[in-house]
Amino acid sequence: MPLVNKKKVYDLNKIAKEIKLPGAFILGAGAGPFQTLGFNSEFVPVIQTESEHNPPVNNSYFAYINPADGGCLLEKYSKKHHDFGCALLANLFASKGQCGKVIEVKAKRRTGQLNFVTCMRQALGTHYGNKPVGMGGTFIVQKGKVKAHIMPTEFSSCPLNSDEEVNKWLHFYEMKAPLVCLPVFVSRDPGLDLRLEHTHFFSHHGEGGHYHCDTTPDTVEYFGYFSPAEFLYRIDQPKETHSFGRD
Ligand SMILES: [Zn+2]
Repeated sequence: MPLVNKKKVYDLNKIAKEIKLPGAFILGAGAGPFQTLGFNSEFVPVIQTESEHNPPVNNSYFAYINPADGGCLLEKYSKKHHDFGCALLANLFASKGQCGKVIEVKAKRRTGQLNFVTCMRQALGTHYGNKPVGMGGTFIVQKGKVKAHIMPTEFSSCPLNSDEEVNKWLHFYEMKAPLVCLPVFVSRDPGLDLRLEHTHFFSHHGEGGHYHCDTTPDTVEYFGYFSPAEFLYRIDQPKETHSFGRD
């Protein structure tokens, strides 16, 4: 921002090594690898990165806009993509991918304005105060619908300088349950210029994208498992920054 920097491409296998967790299992939200796909998309990473003993496994999805009708297209990565990359930005949760204790959260009916992830993030903030607590995991929107966006397949040729301009560029959709969501969130920013929450999702009915909030407060149901983070890594922090486009 405000214009795309196409030099900013990343390899999740390298990221796993940089955070000293080769073989990491990675979930989260980012921008799809235009450098190999040939177009911009929403990246829904589900990746086991390479390790000494195991080859990498990519079960990610990417959601993009159907040029024919402006609808959503959701594709699963396949061997033809040969790629463990993403572009521009990503919020990732990396773990060893092993069994262990997790936090189970169930919620139904929304009574306020905040989305599910913001509620959990603010609850952590209220409890832990100045101490930043990061979490990642998976939740399912079991019932109801959500507001989502997908970035256009073409980058904006004119600079995007405000939330309003970003929102005009994005395409918004209402998508229906069941949706599998991959949230990454931090209760507060310890001075690293973070985006505090980022959730992408996929489904088995062809819908996927970036989660904003549900649109059906009376009927929505959420069910998820979460794990707290031990470390927070900020990779390639931009020198020039801005505060828009972060919801
Ligand atoms: Zn996103």
